[in-house]
Amino acid sequence: MKDISEAILTECLRYQVIPLAMENNQLVIAAVESESLNQVISELSFTCGCHIKVNYWPAMKVEQYIHRLKHSRPDGALIAVAQLQLPNDEAAEYADERHDDEPVVQFINQVIRQAFQRRASDIHFEPYAGHYRIRLRIDGTLQETAMPPAALALQLAARLKIMGRLDIAERRLPQDGQLTFNLDGEERALRISTIPVSAGEKVVLRVMESGKAPQEIASMGMPTKLQTLYTSMIHQPQGLILVTGPTGSGKTATLYAGLRLLNDASRNICSVEDPIEIPLSGMNQTQINLKAGITFSTALRAFLRQDPDILMVGEIRDRETADIAIEAAQTGHLVLATLHTNSAADTLVRLSQMGIPDYLLASSLKLIVAQRLIRCLCPRCRQKKPHDQKVYRGGKNITLHDSQAMGCEHCLSGYYGRTGIYEMLCVTDELRQALFNGATATQLHILACQQGMVPLFEAGITLVEQGITSLQELYRTIGAAHQEPEADLL
Ligand SMILES: [Zn+2]
Repeated sequence: MKDISEAILTECLRYQVIPLAMENNQLVIAAVESESLNQVISELSFTCGCHIKVNYWPAMKVEQYIHRLKHSRPDGALIAVAQLQLPNDEAAEYADERHDDEPVVQFINQVIRQAFQRRASDIHFEPYAGHYRIRLRIDGTLQETAMPPAALALQLAARLKIMGRLDIAERRLPQDGQLTFNLDGEERALRISTIPVSAGEKVVLRVMESGKAPQEIASMGMPTKLQTLYTSMIHQPQGLILVTGPTGSGKTATLYAGLRLLNDASRNICSVEDPIEIPLSGMNQTQINLKAGITFSTALRAFLRQDPDILMVGEIRDRETADIAIEAAQTGHLVLATLHTNSAADTLVRLSQMGIPDYLLASSLKLIVAQRLIRCLCPRCRQKKPHDQKVYRGGKNITLHDSQAMGCEHCLSGYYGRTGIYEMLCVTDELRQALFNGATATQLHILACQQGMVPLFEAGITLVEQGITSLQELYRTIGAAHQEPEADLL
């Protein structure tokens, strides 16, 4: 960067562009092509008092440079924000929507815009004693972004609450709501939640995937064999299909990839969700509303009176919902649901612990899918490790060629994007019998593997061998404890 003053650098960083050089009163910048760029250029040109020339760079490259620029500076903070001259008045000062040009408003808009550009799923606004931190969850991992001055905590929380139409005077109770953000002319939905913490209020914005069409099964990283199995089970006339995994493991996407195959004029498909993440025309989607008395179980009961073919339950959280789902699955309906469990075999035990009799489970369950989303190594910078790694697999130690995340201008610390790993337990007669006889999760897992189930860990190992992800990422995603149980436990 030639002849760039601190002031210009600060201005550029505020607009998420990179100053490259100053030549004959012309500032050369690198920026991502976008509809709002013209506006940015005219504002930059005004504040810097010079002409602007733009070099278009890919988004990841710009992100990477901005990250480096910020972290090479003394306080690692967004200087532009630190220089904001803000009155230290009551937050109510910002209650007026007309304050659109206020620095705090602009700053928050800039953070949200950046979150969308970087494909973030959540934005965390966190006050601490003495500092303030904003983090983005990208590909399932939190990354620090801006560090505005701690003195702004009150104003930031107030502005965010105004955007979410929450009560800005209420700072002692958690609140939640929704807001829409205009991103280059496109309305994007976010969920907002607040909670009091020791140094103020923490606010989290969650990006809603609304408006996105459901994914196709072929694009979800499912091996062909599992795609065929899943598709054939989805077309069964009745029974229960469960998709399990922690929050953010892509369960809903898997269910919707199946539902879109069934969504035609011949079937009545009803779903109850919290919230409706993927709108699908042709499906009757209901959102739970506790205040109005719409819970998973009441909605399910109501749907059953409406001549359904297929029922989708956003999540089975309690015995009552599980009972209705199972009853529906046994009386001529296909029921799809998600559950928070770690593995396919754990699911059987969990339902059993909820009090569902094993014989009912055995007769209604058709398929359990356990899944995770795992980060992919950046194909531009990944490197094979020089030495082989030893891993316990298929009952013995094997060696495999692991890869390493390096990091380059195209990715974030060596990873870019995610793919799914899946374990599918098809409830066969043998498994049904074992379940009926009260087998443990480990015994059911081993039996399922003998019948051809590929466990999550193994599915992940295949991706490591292909260089798609690393062993480190696999352990991070499914936990080191989630390895194969010893066969002699059977
Ligand atoms: Zn890279």
